Order: sequence, then C-alpha cells, then structure tokens
Amino acid sequence: MRLVVVGGVAGGMSAAARARRLDETAEIIVLERGEHVSFANCGLPYFVGGEIVEESKLLVQTPQSLAAALNLDVRVNHDVVGLDAAAKTVTVMTAEGSDTIPYDALVLSPGAAALRPPIPGLDSPRVRTLRTVGDAEALRDAVLQGASRAVVLGAGFIGIEAAEALALRGLQTTLVELAPHVLPPLEAELASLAAEELRRIGIDVREGVGAQSLVPGLRHDTVALADGTTVDADIVVLSVGVRPDTATFEAAGVTCERGAIVIDEHGRTNLTDVYAVGDAVVSTDAVTGVRRPVALAGPANRAGRLVADAIFTPATARPMPAPLGTAIVRVGELTAAMTGANRASLDAAAIPYHTVHLHPGQHAGYFPGAVTMHLMVHFRAGDGLLLGAQGVGPDGVDKRIDVLATAIRGGLSVTDLIDLDLAYAPPYGSAKDPVNMAGMVGENILNGSLSLWYASDLDTVVEDRLVLDVRSAAEFAAGHVPGAFNVPHTEVRARLDEIRGAAAGRHVAVMCAAGIRSYLAHRILVAEGFTSSMLSGGMQTLRATLGARAESVLV
Ligand code: FAD
Repeated sequence: MRLVVVGGVAGGMSAAARARRLDETAEIIVLERGEHVSFANCGLPYFVGGEIVEESKLLVQTPQSLAAALNLDVRVNHDVVGLDAAAKTVTVMTAEGSDTIPYDALVLSPGAAALRPPIPGLDSPRVRTLRTVGDAEALRDAVLQGASRAVVLGAGFIGIEAAEALALRGLQTTLVELAPHVLPPLEAELASLAAEELRRIGIDVREGVGAQSLVPGLRHDTVALADGTTVDADIVVLSVGVRPDTATFEAAGVTCERGAIVIDEHGRTNLTDVYAVGDAVVSTDAVTGVRRPVALAGPANRAGRLVADAIFTPATARPMPAPLGTAIVRVGELTAAMTGANRASLDAAAIPYHTVHLHPGQHAGYFPGAVTMHLMVHFRAGDGLLLGAQGVGPDGVDKRIDVLATAIRGGLSVTDLIDLDLAYAPPYGSAKDPVNMAGMVGENILNGSLSLWYASDLDTVVEDRLVLDVRSAAEFAAGHVPGAFNVPHTEVRARLDEIRGAAAGRHVAVMCAAGIRSYLAHRILVAEGFTSSMLSGGMQTLRATLGARAESVLV
C-alpha cells in the first residue's frame, strides 16, 4: 500500500502519522509545497509579537524527525500540480523539474490560501499575509528593521492576533474591519467589549469600513479607507479571509462546492481512493446544516486521523462529526470564545431560539481576584436544545465555552446544564457555576417563569412599555434609559400602586444591572398580575449592545 498525502501540516500530517501507527508496512509519502512541514501555524502571530522567541519552537517536526520516528517519506518543496485519477498518479513540481508519483490512496489536505480582494495597490511589497513561517519571518524582520506603523486589514481571529502582535512590538497599529464589528462571528454585544479592549491596548480600531485602495510610496504606503480617511503604513497585513487551495484538484475532476472539496462522512471525494480533509473541504454545520468550509486546526487534525482510519481500518472507522466551529482568541487581557451557532446563522436557518445573557464571576465573588465574564447561550425554543454559546472575559471563558461545546456535541438541552456536576472550590468556580446558571435561566424561560426582552429591541420597548429600572437610585442616576421609572428592587413590593399607575396598563419592561434584581422584581410583578418581562443581561448587555451610542442614548 502506498499512501500519498498532499499538504504536510495539520490535516495531512495527522493522516500520515496515524497511517503509520495503523500499518507498519505501508509506504507513506507526504508532499509539501512549502519548505516546512508540521509547523505551528497557530503560533505564527506570537512569533511576530515576540512572545515565541525561537523560530525552532514553531517547527514541531522536520522531515528528518518524521522519518526517524514514523518512517515517513516527507518531501518539502514538492508542489503537487496535477492529479490523474484514472492512472492513480500525482504530478509534482520541484526545483529539479517534474515527477509523477503513483498512489494506492491519496489524501488531499492542501489547506486554504489568503483571500486577495481586488483592492488597487495590494501588490505592494509592504503588503504581507500571515500563513507560513516565511510570512512570519518577513513580518518580524520588517519590525526589526524599524517599521513603526502597521495596518491590518480584516479583524477576524488572525487579524486580531496579528494586530495585537504588532502593537506589542510597539508599532502604531490600525485594525480595519469591513463588517460592522471586529470578530464578525461574535455577537455584537460581545464584540463591542473586544473592540474596547483592543482600543485600550492602543490599537486604532476602524469598524464598518473597508480599504478602498493602497498607494505605494517611497517611505511608506498609504491605505485609503471607504470613509475618506487615509492611514500611512510601513507594513500592511492582509487577513480578510481564506479560500480553499483546491484549483489543481478541482481541475483534475475532484467535485468542489464554491471551491471547497465535497467529501462524505469518511473523507472520501468523488474520485476512487482520493480523500480530503481540513480547510479545503466542505463541512456541514452541526447546528444549522449549512455547508461551508471550517478553517480550524482542531477539526483538521481530528479529520486527518479519521481519514487514515477510513483507509487502513475501514470496518471500524468512525464517521467525521460535523464541526461546531468552536474557536477562541486572546484579545488583550480578554478571551473571546464561541461554539455552535450565532444569532445570524440561526436566523438564516429559520431556527426558533431563545438567548440568555449572563455576567457571572469566573469564581466565587468572595475569593480574591473575582472578575466578571460575559456569557451568551442560545437554545431552541420549545425543547431547549443547546444551539450555541459565546463568551468574553478576563478569565474562565475558555473553560465555560469548552463545557458548553461538549454539551452541544452531546445533544444536551439548556436544562441539562443545571445538572452538570462541575468542579468547584472558591478559587476555581462557584457552587452554581456560570454554566449551571445559564441552565437555570434557560429553564425559567422554557417553563414560563421568566420572560425576556432584549437590548436590541430598546427603541420599541421605550415606545410601548414602561421601563422599570430596579437598580439603586445612585446607579440610576449614573445613566438610564429615557423615560425609565426607578424603583429599587427592595422597594417593589411596597410601591406596587405607584408602578401600576406609571404603567397605566402597559407591559412593564424591568431592568437592572445584570439581570438578577430584575428577575426578582419580575416575579413579584407577575404574582401581582402585571404583564412583565426583564432585560436579558441588564444594563451591562444594554451598554455593550449600544457600544459608542450608549452615551447619547442613555440619560
Ligand atoms: P494547512 O495546515 O494549512 O496545511 C496545508 C499545507 O498544504 C500547506 O503547508 C500548503 O503549503 C500545502 N499545500 C497546499 N497545496 C499544495 C500542493 N498543491 N502541493 C503540495 N503542498 C500543498 N486554527 C485554530 O483552530 N486555532 C488557532 O489558534 C489558529 N491560528 C491560526 C493562525 C494562523 C496565522 C493561521 C494561518 C491559521 C490558524 N489556524 C488556527 C487555522 C489552522 O491553522 C488551519 O485550520 C489548519 O492548519 C488547517 O489544516 P490543513 O491541513 O487543512 O491545512
């Protein structure tokens, strides 16, 4: 058996290594276009920023170490330029010329290439992408040679990491995002916290605006934005997204959807004995069923392993699960993480859902160092099936999102979260962990004991309802919704007549700082016959939703 693998990083190298562990006799050849295999592409931004100092740390394996440990025949600087599925051969181009290599099974893991939008001037040598060790070296060298201003185009995960790395190096850094907010898959009210943090660490964040052109200059380039402003840059990092790097294989007859390779649950393409994994393939979203490539290292690595199983031990090979898209990124001193669907994808898929917002501490409030995190959980209306979760905060977000990702993968409902037996001692969590709390709020919604209104509905709520703010008078004075009536939650029982008078038959939209006091008030009001609901996430979520508008909207 000769297995040929195209692409020697995440998916490809996982497949090759697993293949060897399953079959000691197979001939395994890995063909990699670049000069490195098995490198830590996820570590590249940290090398640029200087947190990873030695380049050798990025090179997890070398062809020599892979030959020694796994008896793999790893050939770098081998660009696969052709595939003949009938003859079962691939054509490679090397510095010495071209060669034809036969295979019994072929695994394609060519990954993705940086998108290059048609912006005039992007061919300037000051414009770089961040995909390879060479790219990271070039960026680091530009910094060491005195670059002092950087523009990063695209505020997705890699754009944020690149901007932070350059800011850490002391460059005046501008981060430009065409979408309305940074980290576009993150919900707006969480993304505004991320943007605030990026500004706090000195990054000039421009949201909702695209780059229109780039004018190369003698000393620096000038990036012109669609809002008419210009930014000078010694370095421009292009990170506006990726596209599957599949042209060679599509031309050879591999079926693709919008450039991504179509595979079945075992990674098989339409061509016999040709498999594919990683950023280059189409996945079916686990929650919405939408078909799209998922460019994340975890799914690529795991798929590489599964595809080797499908080739070498087909009788017991497990199918590849649909990815949840669980992702995490450091943003200054915050962590932003997400799993499953967000509101936009649930709306697009017409899945009815509820959302809860929570602002719990990462551990017991009485233990030193307690800080607030911001969590959102989406679950299906009716049965409460978990659909997605996101979080931003200085500590503890990673663990909650991982628990929620596990719960979604396990098909749990929001009420199941109440029963999760999570590790607790004061330095680590709370007896009611934030994940348990999300379950409790979700259960209250499903059983009707809690009804929510959302910050995004503020305008209509102010028009049609009495906004009852149950925070203290001092909190109210520091900023409140126009027209809101202030009755601190401890006074609600005694002042019901006043509230009834102010409501004048209208629905009462209760709110507080985070959603705890307003829940108490809501229950009192319901017991007294009011029609009432409470603001999900309270003033904290409202302010985050309004973002820069908060100062003009609140009085
Ligand atoms: P890759 O790992 O990209 O490997 C593809 C390889 O195939 C490349 O080396 C390429 O040179 C080679 N190749 C392509 N075409 C050919 C050809 N025709 N012939 C020969 N070789 C070819 N994901 C996360 O989950 N978390 C992170 O923190 C994270 N950070 C990232 C940071 C950066 C800077 C980058 C670039 C990516 C990051 N990712 C992260 C994404 C993650 O690295 C990818 O999802 C993952 O590597 C995909 O694996 P893959 O095998 O599909 O492609």
